[in-house]
Amino acid sequence: MSRVKYISTRGKAPILGFEDALLAGLARDGGLYVPERWPSLSEAMIASFQDKSFAEIAVDVLHPFMGDDVSRDRLVEIVNEAYAGFEHEAVTPLTDLGGGQYFLELYHGPTLAFKDVAMQLLARLMDDALVRRGNRATIIGATSGDTGGAAIEAFRSREAVDVFILFPHGRVSDVQRKQMTTPQDTNVHTLSVDGTFDDCQALVKGMFNDVTFRSEMALAGVNSINWARVMAQITYYFAAAAQLGAPRQPIAFSVPTGNFGDIFAGYVAAQMGLPVVQLMIATNVNDILARTLASGVYETDKVIATQSPSMDIQVSSNFERLLFEVTGRDASRVRALMGALTQVGRFEMTDNELQLTRALFAAERIDEAATLEIMRRFHEAHGFKIDPHTAVGIGAAEKAVLPDGVPMVTLATAHPAKFPKAVLAAYDSEAVAPQHVLDMLQQEERLTQVANDLMAVENAIREKARLV
Ligand SMILES: *Cc1c(COP(=O)(O)O)cnc(C)c1O
Repeated sequence: MSRVKYISTRGKAPILGFEDALLAGLARDGGLYVPERWPSLSEAMIASFQDKSFAEIAVDVLHPFMGDDVSRDRLVEIVNEAYAGFEHEAVTPLTDLGGGQYFLELYHGPTLAFKDVAMQLLARLMDDALVRRGNRATIIGATSGDTGGAAIEAFRSREAVDVFILFPHGRVSDVQRKQMTTPQDTNVHTLSVDGTFDDCQALVKGMFNDVTFRSEMALAGVNSINWARVMAQITYYFAAAAQLGAPRQPIAFSVPTGNFGDIFAGYVAAQMGLPVVQLMIATNVNDILARTLASGVYETDKVIATQSPSMDIQVSSNFERLLFEVTGRDASRVRALMGALTQVGRFEMTDNELQLTRALFAAERIDEAATLEIMRRFHEAHGFKIDPHTAVGIGAAEKAVLPDGVPMVTLATAHPAKFPKAVLAAYDSEAVAPQHVLDMLQQEERLTQVANDLMAVENAIREKARLV
């Protein structure tokens, strides 16, 4: 092994090794880091996953992205630790729904959403790199719900990192807020901002743009544009497909999509040798990606609040990584497209770019009424409840047109207990949360309320961070 190099989709940022890309998050030219080339796994290796544990598969799939930066032995330890806290021994169990449909449960982590799979690994990789270098970092992030809890749960008590999560006061669910405010570890902090999610995001952007504050606090980001988050999600595509007979058996996946991070991990799995026939982009009424696949025009619209709030997104940041691929890794073309998006709110793909996208991706939009109807119908057919994000994935899977004999795996991205309002609307009864979540709901909360003001937020962070 040697050094794995990471390049920016916009071509004007320094080329970095794995750990530097991990700690940088966004590239300095505004682009996203991707490896210089996709590693490939042999058919024998993929076949061997059928008999391996999730942690063993993770090491085989992920180590080629790290090279000399992380030793294989150290990765084994980190991966084992990251997935030890999952409630199910398979980590991401696969259920046969019959009729060629399968259900991949990604919600057995501590905060009941698939973001735990990546965040638990990312936090340990970051902490390990910082400790080895004798450095510290301050993580800041804004959340509309799921990301904040997953980040706090993953980074709590890590040695080299302090975490500050901003959320809009009074605008997240009780479960989501308590997941952020009940951990008592001294390195995690929740800032309840007197404003909206957009205000929180603007404050985070403001702090990253404040060069003095940024270097003083050694700011780092963990949102889904961080390469390591996308990377960590590749594992379960291989794990699920191997159980269904890959590499002999081709597979399709339906993925509830917001920022395009999760489904892009499926694209990477295909580049690494997994026989993926189709990746179905399942969207709610915030359907920018479905419109783009139909017309070739990527055009932002107003965000509509839905029952599946983690997909209420109009700019899917990780789509830039796919653009880089379908333009033949033409960074100047990506710069032009992203520039147009900033300036006029839209860009157009060429016929060739669109064809390359459609070769692997399809898209379906599921509206609000259909989401509730799918939740009910699923329960009648299979005897258990699903969350509204997963329902969007199931609905899109039902519409997929596939060659005979290709199984369709829907990614179940959250536990229904996390979205009680939609669950009550669909089922007239609640979903039972795992015991550790019920216990958590009884614990004492700790949060700091701050004004929607950059100076006020920076001061609150300076006061609490352990940085010297
Ligand atoms: C974040 C999230 C999604 C969307 O995933 P992306 O990687 O942003 O496409 C879907 N479902 C749930 C429950 C989520 O938390």
